[in-house]
Amino acid sequence: MNQSHVSQPPRLQSLGDVVRWVVNELGAMCPSPERLAAYLADPHDPELRDVRYHVEEAGCPICRAERDMSRQRDL
Ligand SMILES: [Zn+2]
Repeated sequence: MNQSHVSQPPRLQSLGDVVRWVVNELGAMCPSPERLAAYLADPHDPELRDVRYHVEEAGCPICRAERDMSRQRDL
């Protein structure tokens, strides 16, 4: 089986670049609970766009469930 589906990072200029690469490659690396909560509190924060990608584009079921639960708590 070919296990080398993860390519090398093109650049490693900052931790943010590494995180974005990992999210783009794997699509399922969950953000920390603190970052997910911050994203849920302010979905438009540009600092949290990798979290938004993870939840909205990659569609992580774990984080989407967490989002749904937090919305119900807010009601
Ligand atoms: Zn997730």
